[in-house]
Amino acid sequence: DVLADQIAAGEVIERPASVVKELVENAIDANATQIDIVVEESGIKKIQISDNGSGIAPEDVKLAFQRHATSKIYRREDLFKVQSLGFRGEALPSIASIADVILETATQDATQQGSYLQIKGGEILVEKAAPSRPGTTITVSDLFYNTPARLKYLSSLQTELAAISDIVNRLALSHPAIAFSLRSNDKKLLQTAGNGNLQQTIGAIYGVQNARQMIQFNGQDLDFKVSGYISLPKLTRASRKYLSLIINGRYVKNYQLTKALLAGYGSKLMVARYPIAVLEIELDPLLIDVNVHPTKQEVRISKEAALAELIEKSIYERLAQENL
Ligand code: ADP
Ligand code: MG
Repeated sequence: DVLADQIAAGEVIERPASVVKELVENAIDANATQIDIVVEESGIKKIQISDNGSGIAPEDVKLAFQRHATSKIYRREDLFKVQSLGFRGEALPSIASIADVILETATQDATQQGSYLQIKGGEILVEKAAPSRPGTTITVSDLFYNTPARLKYLSSLQTELAAISDIVNRLALSHPAIAFSLRSNDKKLLQTAGNGNLQQTIGAIYGVQNARQMIQFNGQDLDFKVSGYISLPKLTRASRKYLSLIINGRYVKNYQLTKALLAGYGSKLMVARYPIAVLEIELDPLLIDVNVHPTKQEVRISKEAALAELIEKSIYERLAQENL
């Protein structure tokens, strides 16, 4: 029901950037290799996301907008080893309950009809067949049109756009094999090559010169594999927002692990000076719990202290080799 969807939306969809995150994660889960994002007025007027992924079959289109209808979890056990980015089946119904949403989708099977569905405030307005163009385009207009309180508490357009840009950057860093583009009111803000090269992806986001000067590090123990790139201390930033933590391809936030990264870098000595860094961690999905919060950004990790130690040591020893 629409009210339940709006309540869920209150948790999952805080701002336009949350919509962008959920829709891009869906495109990633659909195995897209190209994801194009267009926003107008920082996403409040319009957010359009096109992907070349699996698409949705005609018989599943309406189901996708039902609460807890996810195609990604089949058994209860799956919850403990979630690999896909989405799994709660809340994003689409939540977004459709607080905006005007048009879904155009077709599967990779060229003989199958595509679908067009328009839902506004949880009500289906248009439902029809569409050309069989493989992939999915979702257009979200007039976000928060029926939740004025939410609209009122948004930050400035500039801050909301920065939040969109930030989340797209992190998603692009987590998926170097996907070509991402982001446009805002016809201004291109990001384009990644999608060739699988992390350093080039870092270059597309933080500048090619910066990326070339960053140091690659690696480390491994029985449970964890860590790797990534970190800038040298002469290339510091005044904010933590240039630090990205990626676990099994998922951009996450974790205080202890971020602290370990900074400790390896030695930034206890340099208060408020942070590196540009991308830290990738691979671990057995059984060691991570992503179902801590609806936005799935905070994660809980078993053996966290050992992982923190490995991160600190890998970065510290690698930077020591550079005589720093
Ligand atoms: P979840 O991602 O948690 O499964 P969502 O509400 O985000 O829930 O999406 C519901 C369902 O719609 C997904 O499980 C998936 O089957 C389908 N879906 C959504 N977006 C896409 C997309 N871009 N490409 C293919 N299928 C999609
Ligand atoms: Mg989803």
